[in-house]
Amino acid sequence: PATSLDQIVALAKRRGFIFPSSEIYGGLQGVYDYGPLGVELKNNIIADWWRTNVYERDDMEGLDAAILMNRLVWKYSGHEETFNDPLVDCRNCKMRWRADHIQGVCPNCGSRDLTEPRPFNMMFRTQIGPVADSGSFAYLRPETAQGIFVNFANVLTTSARKLPFGIAQVGKAFRNEINPRNFLFRVREFEQMEIEYFVMPGTDEEWHQRWLEARLAWWEQIGIPRSRITIYDVPTAELAHYSKRTFDLMYEYPNIGVQEIEGIANRTDYDLGSHSKDQAQLNLTARVNHNEDSIARLTYFDQASGRHVVPYVIEPSAGVGRCMLAVMCEGYAEELTKAIPGEKLAAVGEALNAFLKSVGRSEKLSGEARDAILARGEELTQALAERLPEVEQLLAMPGADQIELGKKLRGQAQPLIDEHYRTVLRLKPRLAPIKVAVFPLKRNHEEIVATAKAVRRQLQAGGRMRTIYDDTGAIGKLYRRQDEIGTPFCITVDFDTIGQGKDPALAGTVTVRDRDTMAQERVPIAELEAYLRDRVSA
Ligand code: ATP
Repeated sequence: PATSLDQIVALAKRRGFIFPSSEIYGGLQGVYDYGPLGVELKNNIIADWWRTNVYERDDMEGLDAAILMNRLVWKYSGHEETFNDPLVDCRNCKMRWRADHIQGVCPNCGSRDLTEPRPFNMMFRTQIGPVADSGSFAYLRPETAQGIFVNFANVLTTSARKLPFGIAQVGKAFRNEINPRNFLFRVREFEQMEIEYFVMPGTDEEWHQRWLEARLAWWEQIGIPRSRITIYDVPTAELAHYSKRTFDLMYEYPNIGVQEIEGIANRTDYDLGSHSKDQAQLNLTARVNHNEDSIARLTYFDQASGRHVVPYVIEPSAGVGRCMLAVMCEGYAEELTKAIPGEKLAAVGEALNAFLKSVGRSEKLSGEARDAILARGEELTQALAERLPEVEQLLAMPGADQIELGKKLRGQAQPLIDEHYRTVLRLKPRLAPIKVAVFPLKRNHEEIVATAKAVRRQLQAGGRMRTIYDDTGAIGKLYRRQDEIGTPFCITVDFDTIGQGKDPALAGTVTVRDRDTMAQERVPIAELEAYLRDRVSA
C-alpha cells in the first residue's frame, strides 16, 4: 500500500485521475474533477456497487432522485436544525476549524486561543427562479438519502414490494465543509452510494448485522480486505440524531489515519415517520418533528397482522471519492522488478554521492550500502532501490553547476530505474480504468500496427473491456505506464504474430503480459476474448 498520500496525489495528477477544479483560475478549495482515468475508475466502482447491491439481490430497487428538493424535506429530515457543526476560530492564526476535529488545539499554529464553538449549517443554499424571497430558497442536498425516503410510497406502490426491501441510489451530495482537506477524503462536492433498506420493526438489529457483513464482503471484492477495515461501533453520545446504532467502517489512509469510509446506520422509523402526516396514529418509536405539511403516510400494510406499520431503515452509506482513494492507496506499490547487477549499482552509487555532495548534501549512500554494492547481490539491489525515488527527485532539481553531474547521473540511473523499478497500482481488474492495452512491437511497421489496431478494435467491440492502443514508446516504457494506472493486461503484437518471426507456429498469436506477475503468455488472437473475459472482471 501507499506509505504517503503524496504518492497518490502525484500519481493522480501525473496520469490524469484527478485534477483540482478550475485549476487555471487557481482552483476551488475542496472541489475536484475526475480526469480520463479517474472517471473510468469512479464509474467502475459505482457499477460494481450497483451490480452487487441491485442486480445480484432479489430485494432491491434503484432510484435517481433530483439534487434540488422542496425545502420542507430538509426541515422535516432535521437537517435545517441539526446539520450543524460547531465551528471555532483560532484567534492567533485566524484559521477556522470544526470543533470536533481538533481537540482544543489549532492544528495550524498550535495555539489554544480559540473562540467558543458556534453552530454552522453545512448545507449549500441556492435560489430557484428569478425572485430571491423565502419561497424561492433551496438547498443542494447534503445526502442522497432523503430522495429515497420521500419516494418510499412511490417505489412501494409501483414495484409491489413486500418488506424487507431496499432502494439504492448513487448521486452527488454537497456539504460546505469548513476545512476541506486530504485530497478526495473531505471535499465539498462528492458522490454517495446509499441504500435505504426497509424492514419490519423488531427485525432491524438482525438486518443491521446482515448489512454489515454484506458491505464488508463488497469492500473485500473491490480490493480492501476485511483485515484492513476496522468496525467502529459508534458510542451513543456520538450517534447522529436519527440513529439507534451505527457501525462506521474505518480504513487506515496514509497520513490521514484511520477514517470512516462507510457508515451503516440503523435509522429506525425516524425518517419515514418524520415525513409522514398523522404521526400520532403511527406508533412511532423515534422522536420526530411534528409534520403538518406532508400529504402522505409513509407506511406499509402488513398483511399478516392487518396493520399499517412504519418500517425501520438500515442505511449503508459510502462515499465514492473516499472509496476511490482507499482502493488507490491499497493497490499502490513501488517495487523492484528484478535485481540490479552489482557493477551497475556501484557506478550509480558513485555518481549519486558526487551529485549529493555537489548540491551540498552531506549524506551519502552509507558505507555499508557501498560495501554491499561492491560485494553482494540482493541487499545492494535493495540499498539502491531505496534511494531510487530520491535519485528521481534529484534528477528533477535545477541548478547550473549540477547540470553536468546531473546528466551523468541521469545517464546511469535512468536506464536502471526504467529497467528495474516500477510503480504499480494493483487494482482489482474489475475496477481498472483500462482493462487491456495493445502495443505494436514496432510502431512504423505497417502490418504490425494494423494487426495491433485490429486486436484493439476486436476486444473493444464486445463493449465490456476498455481497450486502448499505444505506440508512444518502447515496450518496457509502455508496460510501466500501464502498470502505474493498474491496467491488468498488456498485449504485444510482434513479428511472430504476423508470421515473420523465428517460430512460424506463433503466427496469429500475441504476447499477453500480466500486470502483477509480469509473466508473459502467447495467446492466439482468436482466443483473446475468451482468455480475457473472466480475468478482467476478477
Ligand atoms: P465525517 O464524520 O467524516 O464528516 P460523516 O459521518 O458526516 O463523515 P456521513 O454523513 O455518514 O458522513 O456520510 C456517509 C459517507 O459519505 C461517509 O462515510 C463518506 O464516505 C462520505 N462523505 C461524507 N462527507 C464527505 C466529504 N465531505 N467528502 C467526501 N466524502 C464524504
